[in-house]
Amino acid sequence: VHELSLVSEILRIAEEGAGAARIRRIVVEVGTWAAVEPESLRFCFALATESTPAEGAVLDIVEVPARATCTRCQAEVVVQKAWDTCACGETNLAWHSGEELRVRALEVV
Ligand SMILES: [Zn+2]
Repeated sequence: VHELSLVSEILRIAEEGAGAARIRRIVVEVGTWAAVEPESLRFCFALATESTPAEGAVLDIVEVPARATCTRCQAEVVVQKAWDTCACGETNLAWHSGEELRVRALEVV
């Protein structure tokens, strides 16, 4: 489970964007392949933001399809589910880096 590292990444980006302002809402896009449990992510978020400018902020989680490259035929594959495979049958896909998580919007007070 990597929710905690995702949360610290979210907070790093959010605090950079918010400066000294208080964070009220963070909208994040999470690649479906990351297999993140939204409830678990929210729980970690609530713990990690205690006594920070993001305490009490709402975490909106939007699941987005991820992209990967097939290691056999080099096709680009849009991955809806973590267990998707390439059309050629290959299961070994090279995930594009940076697709795991993106902060889409930030609402500050
Ligand atoms: Zn393929």
